[in-house]
Amino acid sequence: MANDAYEDAIAGLTKLLRKNPDLYGALAKGQSPKFLVFACSDSRVCPSHILNFQPGEAFMVRNIANMVPPYDQKKYSGAGAAIEYAVLHLKVENIVVIGHSCCGGIKGLMSIPDNGTTASDFIEEWVKICSSAKSKVKKECNDLSFEEQCKNCEKEAVNVSLGNLLTYPFVRESVVKNTLALKGAHYDFVNGKFELWDLDFNILPSVSV
Ligand SMILES: [Zn+2]
Repeated sequence: MANDAYEDAIAGLTKLLRKNPDLYGALAKGQSPKFLVFACSDSRVCPSHILNFQPGEAFMVRNIANMVPPYDQKKYSGAGAAIEYAVLHLKVENIVVIGHSCCGGIKGLMSIPDNGTTASDFIEEWVKICSSAKSKVKKECNDLSFEEQCKNCEKEAVNVSLGNLLTYPFVRESVVKNTLALKGAHYDFVNGKFELWDLDFNILPSVSV
């Protein structure tokens, strides 16, 4: 980041602090966000910008292609820890997985050859979390262009992630008790559209529960 960018960021923060002295006083004592948000690391789709979240409102996980991996204590402890903390300790009431247009991670997933060979150290292995979304799109949208297939996969991958959330026992319990709602979303930053939908219980997680 250039010096100017740092100065802008500090000026922005100072302004925010002056405007909200009470908010930051309260936040110093703790946080009680209602949302856990999964969003892509992509610099164009910051959830706080899209949804106007203020500090303290959303607990956030950002990763390549906004994917929720299935419950796996060895492979995915980073994601697992965030979900566990948000659900059991912060008691968030909503988990929202937000996909987006022109997602490079989804394009990467859709580009993995059918024999599964990969060329990257981490990226392709990571996006394979949503392989079942890729298979579904390749099967059902065979006649569409690659670009259109990717668009479909951006939403299907969100559904796979919602299914994967149910592999976490504490998520499942809270959903059954109705204290936690799972929602999928897609942000099209090219056309300025934001879609939101509920978990479809017919979609199975990518691993068996
Ligand atoms: Zn992305």
